[in-house]
Amino acid sequence: MGLFNALAEWREASHEKKIARNRERGTCPACRGQGFYPLAASEYMAFHSADAYTCQHCSGSGLYADWERYQSQF
Ligand SMILES: [Zn+2]
Repeated sequence: MGLFNALAEWREASHEKKIARNRERGTCPACRGQGFYPLAASEYMAFHSADAYTCQHCSGSGLYADWERYQSQF
């Protein structure tokens, strides 16, 4: 139980750090500002479509502002 909580907290902290880092750079945290997913980042791929490689979180712009806007829709 304690281990699970510690792990959840670590994941949460790691996620927060990643977002803060991308906020500073102005880049989308999901695709690191590239607008598409490299093959290694398939963990973020929720849909399989023709444009599966376009980042769904920023609509391919790679901008933090767009990522933030799309976040509020979920
Ligand atoms: Zn993106």
